[in-house]
Amino acid sequence: MDLSLEMFTNIPKVLNHHYKEGNFNWPYMAFFAVVHITAFMGIFKVADCKRESYLFFFILWQLTGYGITCGAHRLWAHKSYEAHFIVRFLLMIGNSIAYQGSIYSWAINHRIHHKYSETNADPHNSTRGFFFAHIGWLLLKKHPDRVEVESQLDYTDLWADPLVRIQHKCDPFFAVPAILSPCLVACYGWNESVSNSIFVVGCLRYCFVLHVTFLVNSAAHLWGDHPYDSKIAPAENPIVSYLAGGEGWHNWHHRYPFDYAASEFGISSQFNPSKLLIDTFAFLGLVRNRKRATSSWRRYRERVATTTNDTDADRCDATNTTDCIDTDAKKEM
Ligand SMILES: [Zn+2]
Ligand SMILES: [Zn+2]
Repeated sequence: MDLSLEMFTNIPKVLNHHYKEGNFNWPYMAFFAVVHITAFMGIFKVADCKRESYLFFFILWQLTGYGITCGAHRLWAHKSYEAHFIVRFLLMIGNSIAYQGSIYSWAINHRIHHKYSETNADPHNSTRGFFFAHIGWLLLKKHPDRVEVESQLDYTDLWADPLVRIQHKCDPFFAVPAILSPCLVACYGWNESVSNSIFVVGCLRYCFVLHVTFLVNSAAHLWGDHPYDSKIAPAENPIVSYLAGGEGWHNWHHRYPFDYAASEFGISSQFNPSKLLIDTFAFLGLVRNRKRATSSWRRYRERVATTTNDTDADRCDATNTTDCIDTDAKKEM
């Protein structure tokens, strides 16, 4: 990350440029201004909260995070496993409370991100710096290259899911009630004060989960090791994994996006509660066809060892797994 003095002195010039070009996305700027001001107010109320609220904050961080990691990301964007209606419904609720736009919009952005990583068509192109990849991309209008490629991918599978359709049609009207609904639990559950419920359980918790997710697009594209593919920016970033439910094993994930674990190893070797949750649902018979890439990776290494030819044959895009499907997830349980 560029932290030079020049980078900071350039900020007014960059803002002026985007203002003159009419690039600012004003509705999102207003939304994020409110989100951050209310979250900042929440910080000063944390010390006054009841113990139950701290626990609830942590539980919501995890559960709403799974609506993004297990739901919008691994299930809907990548089709890395199939889930029963009950699981899809629960993930859709968690996803709504974590509000990051609709699942439909999220998955479209994410498929484009994988296909056009580190180009102008990538919604959060990390070559434009940490701030842009983290949140700046949401404050600006879409790059023309990003708009152009949107119509080139197929999203019919997303629209075929009634839960995705209904949620998308309610977007953005469900945002405020979804973000603030946990406040009622805190208020009526353990008599937390109204202001602590709104500003800590509602606003601060929402903003925190938002930034944790954003780190996957920023930090995990800028810092970490590249053991699976040294030619791409996404990296293995353990800190992002600890914060974002196991989503920081990003070098593996970009090499094998169809892998439901989004990491090479099982949960005993790599922190990955999202994998554990999917495996638990599978154990209960509510999830099936979990795709793994461990065999593809093993075959690749054998090929390289014998031919010294770094072939790209096993690279896959966000959802196309025709040549790569492994169904050896069960062996790991
Ligand atoms: Zn990525
Ligand atoms: Zn992905």
